Amino acid sequence: MEGTDRKRSSRDVQRVPVLLPYPFPGPFDYRVPPGLSPAPGDVVLVPLNRREEVGVVWDAPADAGVPDGKLKPVAGVVDTPPMRPALRQFVDWVAGYTLSPPGEVMAMALRVLAPRAARPAAGWRRADPLPALRITAARRRVLDALAEQEPRSTADLARAAGVGVGVVRGLADAGLLVPAALPVVAPFAIPDPEHPGEILAPDQATAAAALRAAVAARTFSVTLLDGVTGSGKTETYLEAVAECLRQGRQALVLLPEIALSSQWLERFERRFGVPPAVWHSDLTSRVRRVTWRAVAEGAAPVVVGARSALFLPFPDLGLVVIDEEHETAFKQEEGVVYHARDMAVVRARFCSAPAVLVSATPSLETLANVEAGRYRRVTLPMRHGGAVLPSVAAIDMRATPPERGRFLAPPLVAAVRETLARGEQAMLFLNRRGYAPLTLCRHCGHRMQCPNCTAWLVEHRARRALQCHHCGHAVPIPDECPACAAAASLVPVGPGVERITEEAAALFPEARRLVMASDTLPGPDAAAAAAHAIEARAVDLIVGTQIVAKGWHFPHLTLVGVVDADLGLAGGDLRAAERTVQLLHQVAGRAGRAEAPGRVLLQTFSPEHPVMQALVEGDLAAFMAREAAQRRPGHWPPYGRLAALIVSADTAAAADALARDLGRAAPWGDGVEVLGPAPAPLSVLRGRHRRRLLLKTRRDVAVQPILREWLGKVPVARGARVEVDVDPVSFL
Ligand SMILES: [Zn+2]
Ligand SMILES: [Zn+2]
Repeated sequence: MEGTDRKRSSRDVQRVPVLLPYPFPGPFDYRVPPGLSPAPGDVVLVPLNRREEVGVVWDAPADAGVPDGKLKPVAGVVDTPPMRPALRQFVDWVAGYTLSPPGEVMAMALRVLAPRAARPAAGWRRADPLPALRITAARRRVLDALAEQEPRSTADLARAAGVGVGVVRGLADAGLLVPAALPVVAPFAIPDPEHPGEILAPDQATAAAALRAAVAARTFSVTLLDGVTGSGKTETYLEAVAECLRQGRQALVLLPEIALSSQWLERFERRFGVPPAVWHSDLTSRVRRVTWRAVAEGAAPVVVGARSALFLPFPDLGLVVIDEEHETAFKQEEGVVYHARDMAVVRARFCSAPAVLVSATPSLETLANVEAGRYRRVTLPMRHGGAVLPSVAAIDMRATPPERGRFLAPPLVAAVRETLARGEQAMLFLNRRGYAPLTLCRHCGHRMQCPNCTAWLVEHRARRALQCHHCGHAVPIPDECPACAAAASLVPVGPGVERITEEAAALFPEARRLVMASDTLPGPDAAAAAAHAIEARAVDLIVGTQIVAKGWHFPHLTLVGVVDADLGLAGGDLRAAERTVQLLHQVAGRAGRAEAPGRVLLQTFSPEHPVMQALVEGDLAAFMAREAAQRRPGHWPPYGRLAALIVSADTAAAADALARDLGRAAPWGDGVEVLGPAPAPLSVLRGRHRRRLLLKTRRDVAVQPILREWLGKVPVARGARVEVDVDPVSFL
């Protein structure tokens, strides 16, 4: 009976499923009015709750249960290239794998097409000189967002500074901002694959030939390009990009920190004569729109971008490169929680294109895929241009401790002094921003803690503030202890880069110093200027956080000192040792990249630890084999699957109740195990109480159906939430 109804209605009313960029469970049906014939992939305008929204005509049939008479009509088709089948398949796949609503995933592919985005807008720049007025923190952030000089629109500024547009308008009214024309977005130059590049060394040439063949095959494959630091991996895979250009297809290169990629962009330009299109979240919305459209129309043949570039509308993607594939920055932890390295491989598969994973320290996941025969492997065993790998030694902090109140041990101080005396550059590495990670009252023992998080406040002495690195909460450094009111009793405990810089200033007053941390190099221009200053030898001593580990090539740098090599080993998560080896090996790899040999010193309290041994002996393969042997028997990744459930609620009781309910409904069976519930290490974050459960399965058991059934059984009260993290990287 229903069938006959449906048959009749389908003659009278044509319906079409439209996916909207919101967390609905799936597409909604709309009525196709006469004169329109939207096809799958078309971008359309449709009514939703009295507004007009942009959506995409989807493939799957939608809620056929809604009677024809109640359907709203499609309002129009947007004049923009349609979303291709390969991208629609990718959106559905990512949604299914991460258990995210498909509309939320699709939104990442459509974000630039907000209906109001087409209005041209004038921009703002800072008044110069700035009128002497009291400036609030919010206004200060807006002014800081304009520090890179290029004018920005009201909406962009508000977004970049994390304030409302009213703050920007208020600044303009107060005369602190003056109108300025927005920069013109130049059309994308076409990279020339025949532009004469660098001459490759023989092993680079062999590796490049293998990658070129993979591109020319025009089919899906995955290759690991595994080469020691300084072996010229970038120049090698740029030959794969060149082949992709010759094939007339588009290439995508993902970098973990696009803001720190100035040297990479220079290399690209040396090879191809022009820069590539760039994609990341700091672009102004105008540049994003122009770039998005150029990609969709094939006018941007090469894009280098952050993880979100995976969702760009390439009509014919012929190569995906994931540089520094081991980097955890490829994991998106908010919104749709996905790992861009793994999703890049999937994107390549839907496009019948090769993926190339690049690293000097490949992840165990990737190595396991090589071992299982799923990925190919191409190796560059030698440093480029006759340079040799640096020598690495541990400094036992128990045997040769620093002077009281200091953090640099005598052997490291001596090595820095020798290096500077030879006119070479030295680097001190500490993966911790600010001055001190903890501030303590020496009178009563009170510790300065974030009111919103289970975290200490980090002192930033230059800004005279205590700040939470999880939620951003900041207070001025108090004059007296908030607990016992003792005056001048608060003391910093432990070092951050600011404190190491202060110590270096006292020890090496003649050295020209540069701090490289995310808060001292606020944007791509500042990072590029820092890199140029180091290359030009205008700097003698670099003090930096993990951003100094990122692929830089500093030919005059010959000494790297790791201030606290044990730092990453605390906390004991699954990959703590692997990550520490990768990070420290990458930092060490900055030393001795030209003629002068490099030297690396690791300050550690446990020189016998396998991580320190692996670094000193330079035997990463043996270390990774040991890691594999430890994870295999218990079915830990990559020899099993993990998914985390993160429960959060306004109160501890509500979080506990929901976590307990989930624990009671936990799945069980052959090869399935649930760990927890347990309080998260960050048991309070931004005022929300958090608990964790972990689903662990054998590799041949898919976690998604189990998770769907499990979550379907447990109602979630108002104010509480369960976030799903498939293949978790962070266990906080
Ligand atoms: Zn006190
Ligand atoms: Zn906080």
